[in-house]
Amino acid sequence: MKIRERIIIKGIVQGVGFRPFIHKLVKNYNLSGWVLNSNQGVEIEVEGKEEELNSFVADVRGKLPPLARIEEIEVNQLALVGYKGFSIKKSVAKEENSFVLVSPDISICKDCLQELFNHQNRRYHYPFINCTNCGPRFTIIKDIPYDRKKTTMRVFKMCPQCQSEYDNLEDRRYHAQPNACADCGPEVFLYQQKRKLAIVDPITEAIRLLKDGQIGAIKGLGGFHLACDATNNKAVLKLRHLKNREAKPFALMSLNIEKINQYCEIGKEEKEWLEDRARPIVLLKKKKNSLISPFVAPNNDHLGAMLPYTPLHYLLLKDSFLALVMTSGNFRDEPIICNNREALEKLDKVADFFLLYNRDIFNRCDDSVIKIINNHSVFFRRARGYVPHPIILDFKLKEVLALGGELKNTISFAKGRYVFLSQYLGDLKNVETLNTFQESINNLGKIFKVNPQIIACDLHPDYLSTKYAVEIEAKKGIKIVKVQHHHAHIVSCMAENNIKEKVIGVAYDGTGYGNDGNIWGGEFLLCDLKKYSRIGHLKYYALPGGDKAVAQPWRMTYSYLYSIYGKKAQDLKIDFNQRLDYNKLSIIEKMIDRKINSPLTSSCGRLFDAVSSLIGIRDEVSYEGQAAMEMESLCASEIEEGYGFDIYKENGEFIIDPERIFKEIISDLKKGVNIEIIAAKFHNTIADFTVNLCGKIRKNTNLNKVALSGGVFQNRYSTERIISLLEKDGFQVYIQRKVPPNDGGISLGQAVVAGNK
Ligand SMILES: [Zn+2]
Ligand SMILES: [Zn+2]
Repeated sequence: MKIRERIIIKGIVQGVGFRPFIHKLVKNYNLSGWVLNSNQGVEIEVEGKEEELNSFVADVRGKLPPLARIEEIEVNQLALVGYKGFSIKKSVAKEENSFVLVSPDISICKDCLQELFNHQNRRYHYPFINCTNCGPRFTIIKDIPYDRKKTTMRVFKMCPQCQSEYDNLEDRRYHAQPNACADCGPEVFLYQQKRKLAIVDPITEAIRLLKDGQIGAIKGLGGFHLACDATNNKAVLKLRHLKNREAKPFALMSLNIEKINQYCEIGKEEKEWLEDRARPIVLLKKKKNSLISPFVAPNNDHLGAMLPYTPLHYLLLKDSFLALVMTSGNFRDEPIICNNREALEKLDKVADFFLLYNRDIFNRCDDSVIKIINNHSVFFRRARGYVPHPIILDFKLKEVLALGGELKNTISFAKGRYVFLSQYLGDLKNVETLNTFQESINNLGKIFKVNPQIIACDLHPDYLSTKYAVEIEAKKGIKIVKVQHHHAHIVSCMAENNIKEKVIGVAYDGTGYGNDGNIWGGEFLLCDLKKYSRIGHLKYYALPGGDKAVAQPWRMTYSYLYSIYGKKAQDLKIDFNQRLDYNKLSIIEKMIDRKINSPLTSSCGRLFDAVSSLIGIRDEVSYEGQAAMEMESLCASEIEEGYGFDIYKENGEFIIDPERIFKEIISDLKKGVNIEIIAAKFHNTIADFTVNLCGKIRKNTNLNKVALSGGVFQNRYSTERIISLLEKDGFQVYIQRKVPPNDGGISLGQAVVAGNK
């Protein structure tokens, strides 16, 4: 029997070759009707036999074009009308406030890569080759619907040949909005000393300059990279010096897996992620004695590597380098620079030459960074290749704008079941990032068509994001919901795992404002999506100097030692006391005694810092998390023991007291135990007290689900151990896979808490 069905498909279904796909698919069946783009996504009406219709719908799901992503399919049966043939109908007008999902930027596909290196092809060596299945998307979009007129490709008029590809349903560039060729599309230029060089082949010249040890500012998809030959010590050191970046690792880019394998270990999951079409930077274990300069990632046993993702990258790398350093073109946590004029001005001090092109980047977007932890990927930074994919919930939220925290800031827009997390924006402490922050609120609000009824922000009164929220409240009368930092962390983890019921939340990070005004960061919360209560935490210690103690871990070490040993701390016969001068330590004592700029903290990050300095790894850091990262790098494997600790109850809260950890480490140091072993024992202890306290909380509450979040869960050694011990103990453990566990993920948690109120 014949029936008619109307099928509405929501998701990433526009600008990804969806209608031609449907048109072709229909030919396999005896079906008639039409397909069109609408404000909901794609609408199809088909008539035919019921069995045929069923297998047609199954094929739609199963044989999707590469960039398409279906979030929902709605099928309704209607009365027969007797369609003849099958057609693509004109798009219907967009309704105000409707929205369709936009694809992230996707690395060049196999077909385009083949054409790029094919002498016969008309786009041979054309650095902006792309098609319906690949190329720039999010970074060039100004507004929706995704259409060339609303992208930065607007200024390029397609030549007749490109236009006919664009119009031809059978062509693999049908409706590819960035479609272009050397005759009509963007061009590459080489600049030196602020002057455009009149040369035929800027890319070959750039390769020559890089081989010569020079530093290039190279325009990528979402912003500029600073690049140099990664095997050239002098070039890498020069880049470090000029970028004023002492130690933070630089990312590398190599032509293929074989090349990366010459300097890093690549496991099965890591290979899959390197080759993923989003092309993230993957953190990999270094191989010893490779040709890569040791200054790329000093004192770190990992390197961040990625494969090329634009045709331009392939042309630069095709037969030239083992690896290029490709670090974000910016200074100290400022946003990545994305426009040509800004690059020429600001990067002038660092770059010897500029490889630019004249297609504008509208939404700046850094490279994404992931690491494999417990056999799955964990985001360190979520940006290019992933944004603007939404996090999809199985419940609905009000329309919310969540402003995130301060470091590694992201913002989120919530609407219905979708939460759109922005790309990584940087540290809101500087003016440049604040401008980007405002720019992103405007740009993303437009793309996602969200009109927030609620603004969510952190509890911290001094965060620029909080101040911004207060300003909006005053100006526009939009209600603010302030969400405690660690509650936001745990809800972020719950949301991406679609958990609604109460959990034990373990939030370990560096800094978050607590509701008692102290600095939290080693927290055990009983949490649901609306509220939380603090059931336990690491014992409070003074943080002498506040932010200064974050940059100088030795201060925190001495805070612990002074609190544990009193005046006798300075007499301990340990290297720490020999290294640091007596006066410095006495000043810390006075600050703590007189409570001068010494807020109390329960931070887990600071505990890692303190131990790192105590055992002589790092007394001062030049980037966040450095002391802990270097300590993790040193951990000896196959150590099972840990140190002692105490957990007791005080005012109804469990307190984890790390005093015995310090005493036993000092005893190990005096015995001359290797710091590799001490580091491992310390990491094991973190896992031990975590599992121990979760056990106590389960006894009291009967809760068996544990959600883990916070920057400390980027530490592979302790995270894997915590998960494994909790699971052994019968807990259901949830960690973050879709958004970063660090502060880059808290805007998601804020949005969910506020959108639920
Ligand atoms: Zn392609
Ligand atoms: Zn053309």
